[in-house]
Amino acid sequence: MILLDRVTKSYKRRGVALQNISLHVEPKEFVIIVGPSGAGKSTLLKLLTREEKPDSGKIIVGGIDYESLRDKEVPLLRRKIGVVFQDFKLLPNKTVFENVAFALEIVGQSNKEIKHTVPKVLEIVGLEGRGGAMPWELSGGERQRVAIARAIVRQPKILMADEPTGNLDPKHAWDVIRVLQKINKYGTTVILTTHNQEIVNKLKRRVVTIKDGQIVSDKASAGYREM
Ligand code: ADP
Repeated sequence: MILLDRVTKSYKRRGVALQNISLHVEPKEFVIIVGPSGAGKSTLLKLLTREEKPDSGKIIVGGIDYESLRDKEVPLLRRKIGVVFQDFKLLPNKTVFENVAFALEIVGQSNKEIKHTVPKVLEIVGLEGRGGAMPWELSGGERQRVAIARAIVRQPKILMADEPTGNLDPKHAWDVIRVLQKINKYGTTVILTTHNQEIVNKLKRRVVTIKDGQIVSDKASAGYREM
């Protein structure tokens, strides 16, 4: 469960990025966050990953109250939250397998466990058999699916995808969205930010709209059905 209660966040010199935001996301929900550039979408995700701290208000994620969270507990929190970005952020000199394995190595998993887990996760994102490929050999959509594999390999409760289709053509964008839907079906909460109206319309999921740092609408199943 994600709970934000009257959260305000401002940046030095830039003023208020989020003002008095309250949001409640149930486990296993799929929430799309939309809004113009600069509205505060990324700031919201950064507050949830504890990359940024709010000026005021309460944030509770998975039973953890951020007010009482100590800095040394942040890595533990991050294991509960997988994150995917528009620009993939893969390690360019590592193979697909190594990119995903890295997320397990840094938490001390054994080689045996890694060899067992990574192929399974690559299968979930539709990249079975591609573990030996280098990132530059892949399409943008495939790279993004590697990034998703890396984000989910430690089985986070929440997956946050910040404009994951922003750099992709429509076909590859849908491959990525379908993977997010599948992961959600398996029980992971998914929070997706996007500018893509077609994705919003077709997914028919809850849509939260942010404008000028405020939630201006929150609809259970927004988007229209195309005739
Ligand atoms: P969005 O993701 O919706 O495009 P952001 O959360 O990135 O919006 O930005 C919201 C506002 O906060 C913008 O005015 C932006 O310029 C400002 N902002 C975001 N990050 C920073 C930062 N690190 N330092 C200063 N201002 C920032």
